[in-house]
This record gives sequence, C-alpha cells and structure tokens, in this order.
Amino acid sequence: MKTNYDYLVVGAGLYGAVFAYEAKKKGKTCLVIDKRSHIAGNVYCENVHGINVHKYGAHIFHTSDKKIWDYVNQFAEFNNYINSPVAVYKDELYNLPFNMNTFSKMWGIRTPEEAKKKIAEQIEELHITEPKNLEEQALSLVGTDVYEKLIKGYTEKQWGRDCKELPAFIIKRLPLRFIYDNNYFNDRYQGIPIGGYTAIVEKMLDGVDVLLDTDYFAFVKEHADIAPKTVFTGMIDEFYGFKLGVLEYRTVRFETEELDCENYQGNAVVNYTDREVPYTRIIEHKHFEFGKQPTTVISREYSKEWEKGDEPYYPVNNDKNNELYQKYKELADEENKVIFGGRLGGYKYYDMDKVIAAALEMCEAELN
Ligand code: UDP
Repeated sequence: MKTNYDYLVVGAGLYGAVFAYEAKKKGKTCLVIDKRSHIAGNVYCENVHGINVHKYGAHIFHTSDKKIWDYVNQFAEFNNYINSPVAVYKDELYNLPFNMNTFSKMWGIRTPEEAKKKIAEQIEELHITEPKNLEEQALSLVGTDVYEKLIKGYTEKQWGRDCKELPAFIIKRLPLRFIYDNNYFNDRYQGIPIGGYTAIVEKMLDGVDVLLDTDYFAFVKEHADIAPKTVFTGMIDEFYGFKLGVLEYRTVRFETEELDCENYQGNAVVNYTDREVPYTRIIEHKHFEFGKQPTTVISREYSKEWEKGDEPYYPVNNDKNNELYQKYKELADEENKVIFGGRLGGYKYYDMDKVIAAALEMCEAELN
C-alpha cells in the first residue's frame, strides 16, 4: 500500500472494479478496499471440485447493449447458456417465463389465440384499469391462474410482503410471450463467463492495489488522507450512520451442499412457487457451464428481511424506501469528495449490465 492514491474505492464488486480499471487506463491510482476476504462482491464464484459455485446467488449475464457486451467480453469469453427456469407448484411443473409452454400445460391449449382468449377472460372479470401494485400488474398481464400458481407465493416468499404492497416494476422484469420460447430474458446477448465471474474482476483489478478484510469505517479513521476522492459502493444509509432512517433490503440465506450424484434436478434454476415450500428456488450450479463432473452442488435459497449484520441483496424499492433514499441522495449530491454507486450505493434493483453501464457513465464524467 502506498501513502496516497487518487481514489479510494470502497467495494471490490463490479462497480468498483470497472471504475478502478478505467481509472488506471487514465493514469489514475486507486486503492480498492473490501470488507470481505475476496474480490468480486456478489458475483464471486467459488470452485468446488471443478464447479463454479455462485456464492451469493445465481448470476446470469444478459444485456441488449452491444457496448456493454463488448466491454465484458474483453475480460472473458462467454458460453451460450440460456436461462430457462422451471417452476414447481405443488405437484405441477411449468416452464418459465410465462410463454406458450406454460399456458399449454396450465390450460391444455395449443394456440396463441386460445391462450390470449383464456387470459383475456380472466382479466375481464377483474376490472383493473390502471395497475397500482405488483398484484394488479401481474393479474392484468397474465390473469388469475398464472398469478395464483406462479407469482403470488413466490413473490411473497421472496419479498416478505403482500403483492399489493410491492411495486409493479418488479414483475415487469419477466417476459410474457405467446410463442413456445423458454428463454427467461428478452436481451440480445446472454451467457455465463467461462471460468466464472471472479476471473473477470481479477482482470479488471490487475495491477490495482487491493486490501481485503478491510472495513471502510474503521479504515478511514486511520487513513483519512489516503485519497482526495472516494468511490463508495456500500450501503448509502450506512455511510451516513443511518441518521435519516434505515433502508430496507431482503437478504438471502443459502443452504449449499455437494451431492454425490451427477445431475440432481436437470436444470440450473428450479423455482418453488407455492407458499408451503420454505425456499424460493434451488440452483444447481454446474448446469450454468454444462458441467460433467461426477458430483453436483446445489443451493436452496431462503429469503428474509435484512437486519444489520446480514448481507444486503435486494433493495425493497417501494414508495416508502424510495422516498428515504431520495433524502440520502440529496446528502450524497452535496458531497464533492464522495461518489456513490452500485446496487447498494444507488439503492436500486440493478442487473449486472446496468451496474457496468452506470459505472462507465460515471467514469466518463469523472475521469475525462
Ligand atoms: N417471480 C415470480 N415467480 C417466479 C419467478 C419470479 O413471481 O417463478 C417474480 C418475483 O416477484 C420476483 C420477480 O419476478 O421478485 C423478479 O424475478 P427475477 O427472476 O428477475 O429475480 P432475481 O433473479 O433478480 O432474483
């Protein structure tokens, strides 16, 4: 470690790593610190007998932005994985996202016209004019049956809130199609980096000073003058000592185990959409990379409300929290020595491509 840097970057996840990489290209120095004992934030993968285990939840890269796709391909080659989750509701099994395979299984129908008619009949009875929340949004898109079997239970487990209290945009993340196509994303580009995500972040941070196991709040007390500017990718409310209130997050508990079988569930992602099963989904990591290893590693995901000390995963972007975030953002906008970014710094349910795009945009403004 040197005594002085141009930037202190807090968090070695995608946002911080993109910034450090771009800053280095411009001849600026960064010290990247992270409280965890590894780099790569939540995209970190751990190799277990040849299987890249997504330690902090499944990450599937997808984007429609050619610039971002070319950008990440500098750091890794991507495979041709297409995410096609399966949903288990009680003893029934459906394809996701909501498409002709789902509808034909649900209603014994075959054509798009029949599916549209079925959904239209269900929607008509509801009299929803302008969807005000996730429940109304979901119902007005897919009707009652799909909502009750594939959305309501999963969403309430995942968010710990009634679907009427959740913002509509969450459900708009999922495609709705009247073709037989189980691709979970509409994006032009999709895949998993061959060799895992950690290697991407390693390349971004090549030649950059990194301090792990380092908590920012303790570190700045000792090294207040380490850099004239800070890029902070931690929780914005924690930065301010939670003085205006605590922003809500969901956290995930992973129950991960290696099984002595070659193929446990036949798919990378299986969602459990009824309320009775306590976990939301099971990830079988090897299928992201078409693994042929003799064993397999699976993770059951249990969602719960975030409390201090837990890992924050999903910002709960309802009105109450968005208003509180705006107040923190007003403080943040006043800062001329600190830049906030990433899912936690921006309190936004970002996908990876959006995090990278936001980081590059910030680099453009900051480094030129
Ligand atoms: N969702 C659902 N049923 C499913 C999968 C997803 O109702 O089987 C809803 C749920 O509300 C979830 C949202 O769609 O929060 C977004 O799902 P996505 O798979 O994008 O979540 P992520 O992969 O980010 O956890």
